Amino acid sequence: MKFSIITLFPSLIKEMISESIIKRAIDKNKVNIEILNLRDFSNLNNNQVDDYQYGGGSGMVLMIEPLVNAIESCKKENSLVILTSPQGKTLNQSISTNLGKNYNHIIIVCGHYEGFDNRIMNYIDLELSIGDYVLTGGELPALVIVDSVTRLLDGVIKKESYLNDSFENNLLDHPVYTKPVTFRDKSVPEVLLSGHHANIEKYRHQEKLKSTYLKRPDLINYESLSIDDIKYLKELKNSKGEN
Ligand code: SAM
Repeated sequence: MKFSIITLFPSLIKEMISESIIKRAIDKNKVNIEILNLRDFSNLNNNQVDDYQYGGGSGMVLMIEPLVNAIESCKKENSLVILTSPQGKTLNQSISTNLGKNYNHIIIVCGHYEGFDNRIMNYIDLELSIGDYVLTGGELPALVIVDSVTRLLDGVIKKESYLNDSFENNLLDHPVYTKPVTFRDKSVPEVLLSGHHANIEKYRHQEKLKSTYLKRPDLINYESLSIDDIKYLKELKNSKGEN
């Protein structure tokens, strides 16, 4: 997988991809991250890339020409061009999974200031947001996209790890514990120390159901649950005094 990130702040991206799992994925050639400095694609004096907006109003706007020059410099026939924008579709695990499965080159355009000249939309395949809030620039969203897609690529982390993660199978992950067994008056659940794999598996599955039911009931797909799962959720509801 290759990502080409178009940004006004290449060092922000460089810093974040030079550590931990993403760095290892780069070293193992699982992912290639190209950083394009938007200023290199300006034809104006001082590498100008922004200007005042027509009609008045505060905040500078990124000009169309350098943006399109940058996109066209790296776009191939099968590239997907993503615009980071608070107005886009909200990123989720299934979008990240699909991006990793269906594309081998993703171009991500990072905005700044007031945003982009709207004519950029003619060159964009997908407008993506990372949540309903406004950030100062698209670099963090670009890194969020790169990170969430990369960790799902084959050979980056163990498959068992991400298959148990939150949002897989419409459930949140189960709680996890490490040493010490007892911290102040709180101990690790007994079953996790039992060595009984079937019981541990059952406990973890029920904890996933419980966390999802308590924290994100909107995620649960009742049609995909087993009869035992439904019975367990019913007990949980009864214990909370719900019907
Ligand atoms: N005026 C724009 C609006 O209200 O829609 C916001 C511009 S924002 C200050 C500057 C840039 O940060 C955006 O062009 C986009 O690239 C990025 N950005 C900000 N919030 C974002 C979010 N929630 N998701 C993705 N990108 C975001």
